[in-house]
Amino acid sequence: MKKLAAVFLAGIMCVSLAACGSSASDDAASTDTQTAAEETAEETEETADDAAAADTEEAADTAASGEVTTVTEGILTMGTNAAFPPYEYYEGDAIVGIDAEIAQAIAEKLGLSLEIVDMDFNSIITAVQSGKVDVGIAGMTVDPDRLENVDFTDSYATGVQVVIVPEDSEIASVDDLEGKLIGTQEGTTGWQYCSEDYGDDMVIPYTNGATAVQALLDGKVDCVVIDQQPALNFVEANEGLKILETEYAVEDYAIAVSKDNTGLRDAINTALNELIDDGTVQGILDKYITAE
Ligand code: GLN
Repeated sequence: MKKLAAVFLAGIMCVSLAACGSSASDDAASTDTQTAAEETAEETEETADDAAAADTEEAADTAASGEVTTVTEGILTMGTNAAFPPYEYYEGDAIVGIDAEIAQAIAEKLGLSLEIVDMDFNSIITAVQSGKVDVGIAGMTVDPDRLENVDFTDSYATGVQVVIVPEDSEIASVDDLEGKLIGTQEGTTGWQYCSEDYGDDMVIPYTNGATAVQALLDGKVDCVVIDQQPALNFVEANEGLKILETEYAVEDYAIAVSKDNTGLRDAINTALNELIDDGTVQGILDKYITAE
């Protein structure tokens, strides 16, 4: 009986993932950026299926013992912004990437199926607070302002803010950003730091990384400040861009959970730490992030 329930849930999970696709493929910039990550994503799907099958029994056991409350019973609903490769991006209609895989592994441990909801990055914290989603998993940096509104789990990855410039740019390091027009993703830490350091007038917020990079390609901004891994992906997918060697900031990524659901936060931390200890998280990171 327990096993059957888990198999049924796994079925819903696949349907949910498949049903997530929507607007991103209309966006020329994000379509371009998918190319660099597509190969990895193909492997990902197979591995995710295998993992789901192998973990079915374990998931059923955890479901029986760990009682977590979620927005929709039996489902872990994850808010993300799927224009942030290799953490989250579209492969066809499915949202794939590091965060999607880590979320799936956590959901399996909690005996839940996973549903991913794509939204603007800037809406994720509110969606967690208002109970539209259970968790925000979006390469999201632990940050004091956000901690006033949501809780974060333990960290699962390190993020670095970097600067993308045209190959022939006169900007040689982060010290040259004064007086330059900086493209950022609205609501991100990169946007916050640049606004503080250079003033709101010099910082143009875009709804996601792909549109910020498109603005750089179109000459509307002089540079883009964004997280390193998406930056590498965007630079690989678009000619004529490079990343400055100097880093802007080093940060921790973690999962945002409602302050009203400490039970879920604690259960995720237990699952996450097991996945860190047994090498699953590192395996997922290594699959998407190739050592330089
Ligand atoms: N790490 C950055 C932040 O949390 C950007 C995340 C993102 O754009 N998905 O603000």
